[in-house]
Amino acid sequence: MNQKEKMVKLAVNGGISFGAKLNAKQLAVIAEHMNDGDELELTTFQQLYIEIAESKVELVREKFKEVGLSCYPVGNFVKSLKTCNFCKGEEEEGMPVAKELNHRIAGKTVPFTLKVAYTGCPIGCGEPMLSDIGIMKMRDHYNLYVGGKAKGKDAEVGFLLKENLTPDELYDTVEKIIAVYSQMGKKRETFYKFLKRIGRDQLIS
Ligand code: SF4
Repeated sequence: MNQKEKMVKLAVNGGISFGAKLNAKQLAVIAEHMNDGDELELTTFQQLYIEIAESKVELVREKFKEVGLSCYPVGNFVKSLKTCNFCKGEEEEGMPVAKELNHRIAGKTVPFTLKVAYTGCPIGCGEPMLSDIGIMKMRDHYNLYVGGKAKGKDAEVGFLLKENLTPDELYDTVEKIIAVYSQMGKKRETFYKFLKRIGRDQLIS
């Protein structure tokens, strides 16, 4: 490899499933694309960071996709959905809805990295209350929380923005919130600060 070639950081995971797991084949394919001395970074948001030479990024994305790995950009983008383990089952806990939401929003450009968490019941293993945007499935509907802040001495629990949403209402509302943040957020302004600045009414007006 050309030592001076630009390296690109990719966020990788096994997609939305029963727990944040990787199988042996996926691990082997990841290892194939690492050099001696390279390291994988394990993040708190169910992603692994790997650095790939810029000229190989598309090839690596394809190889990873073949074994069911998902790749996302790193930086000021919507992160892939952090989920619970769906312990009571795929349908019951709304995994298809989580997958569709992830498909619609992950990787969108925003002023600062945006974390969205999904949890399949009120026990809340996916920690939705501590994320910028959190979704909690309540029987057949979805509650939407915003404004959680997990880091710092001023950590804060998010608040309920909308409740009893259908899947379509959930997709629509989350996409609108992200669009408002993209359009009105200042460069590198966190969603938490953005929300404090504009208030909840402007977010969903
Ligand atoms: S949030 Fe509920 S469905 Fe999801 S893993 Fe926890 S207990 Fe199971």
